[in-house]
Amino acid sequence: MKLLFYAAKIYDKKSFGPVSENYPDIEIDYIDHELEPVTAPLAKGYDGICAFVSANVGAETLQILHDEGVKYVLMRCAGFNNVDVEKAKELGIIVKRVPGYSPESVAELAMGLALAVNRRLYKAYNKVRENDYTLKGLRGVNFFEKTAGIVGTGKIGAAMARICRGFGMKVIAYDVYENPDLKEFVEYVSLDELLSRSDLISLHCPLLDSTYHMINIENIKKMKDGVILVNTSRGALVDTDELIEGIRLNKFLGVGLDVYEEETGYVYEDKSDEIMQSSVTARLLSFPNVMITSHQGFYTLEALESIAETTLTNMMDAANGVKNGNDIA
Ligand code: NAD
Repeated sequence: MKLLFYAAKIYDKKSFGPVSENYPDIEIDYIDHELEPVTAPLAKGYDGICAFVSANVGAETLQILHDEGVKYVLMRCAGFNNVDVEKAKELGIIVKRVPGYSPESVAELAMGLALAVNRRLYKAYNKVRENDYTLKGLRGVNFFEKTAGIVGTGKIGAAMARICRGFGMKVIAYDVYENPDLKEFVEYVSLDELLSRSDLISLHCPLLDSTYHMINIENIKKMKDGVILVNTSRGALVDTDELIEGIRLNKFLGVGLDVYEEETGYVYEDKSDEIMQSSVTARLLSFPNVMITSHQGFYTLEALESIAETTLTNMMDAANGVKNGNDIA
């Protein structure tokens, strides 16, 4: 079976290469190009394609893949907001994802961002490098005995809840389903109550119509002054313009974003020599209490190995008609 691997980075080849030796029936070709309608015809002659978070797996792309004979779409990520699931079902394309690779990899980054914005570690690092040993602008707060509000307590949210408990925080959560594994130490509350009680709010729900722009100015105004907001889930959970409005209202002690609305086209690319066209991200970066990372939550050794293993198992299962719980379509 042949698999075309879109938007392949060196680290993808490093993680998939050794793992693929255990899957002799799968032959992988790696290409740099991102999956989109114009690059979809490259998949002619392949049984499956492998795509990531910035791919365009919309109706047009799926139609072209189908016309070129592609039967399987293997998403090497958990989120699938960029996949037109109904179109895939209509075309009979099997789509699988990697729902549960090392949730700690993302949760640990979420806590890392929370700590970094709280104690302004990015500023402190640069100040000391510049021989400036003053503490101006670096004062943070203790997390111990503060309240962490987790929005979405699936695999990653649960890992974040456990980390927050380890810091001695009270953990409250909002989810449409309560996670029984967290019963001992997590108090479920309404979203409004979470917003008004939390000192640290961390977003871990998927991007859906119901969660799009859930962090908007109306909800930001319900938050405590001096709250820390962290988003490692999907950019469009937060309305960026309204987040900027909230930052200007001095609502936030800090904001840590591993994902943001305009990331597509930027993430995983070196744009350091280019004039940035987007003003929204530039405005966000101008604030001293905002730290942005480039969708790197998944980027640990353990997570990459797990992604490779599950993606190739998904391909074998798709070929054998096995539903394995990772199915999107
Ligand atoms: P999961 O499916 O295990 O958990 C998602 C949780 O969100 C579930 O408990 C679900 O009930 C809840 N949820 C659904 N709708 C909700 C709503 N309207 N309000 C509140 N909660 C709601 O998923 P996961 O593995 O924990 O991943 C969470 C998200 O993290 C993914 O959807 C993905 O977007 C993101 N992610 C980011 C990275 C990264 O590199 N930054 C890596 C992996 C995943």
